[in-house]
Amino acid sequence: MFNKKIQLHTEYINDIIERNNLKFPVDVFKLLDLLVLENDNFMVKALPLPISRPAMLIRRKDHSSEKILLAYDDNRPESEIRFSILHEIYHYLYHTNTIANCFHDDMEDDERESECNQFALNILAPEQIFLAYYIKNDFNIKRVAEEMKIPEYWAHKRLQMLRESSLAT
Ligand SMILES: [Zn+2]
Repeated sequence: MFNKKIQLHTEYINDIIERNNLKFPVDVFKLLDLLVLENDNFMVKALPLPISRPAMLIRRKDHSSEKILLAYDDNRPESEIRFSILHEIYHYLYHTNTIANCFHDDMEDDERESECNQFALNILAPEQIFLAYYIKNDFNIKRVAEEMKIPEYWAHKRLQMLRESSLAT
């Protein structure tokens, strides 16, 4: 279920969200501004990307220094971009030694990939807030996903996880 490490990272980011008074649905780009210092070594850019990748981290060696580009495809649905940016940000913040492997993102069984997804879901759709949206929208998951600006797949996933954790208690 909940990995302790991811929970701590989630709490850390949620604290930043609260202190800066970011409202739901959280503005991912504003959050990004608060988390990383955009400079010559870290850039965020809209670029066309392969269809399976709404966002990706690209590591570039430049002379002796290393530069990171967080690219996102602004032709993709906003919900996918938001989720994917948070996924990549987790790689950037917490998988520092493995960024180069991020090209193999499609391996769903990869533990690091599921950590990134879990983190993105925690930030964009915390349990209590998700539940409030779910009730407000008459249990219509498609509308919940739209209002929370998260991919519908992940709204279903959150609901499934809530069901599993309530069955467990
Ligand atoms: Zn990844």
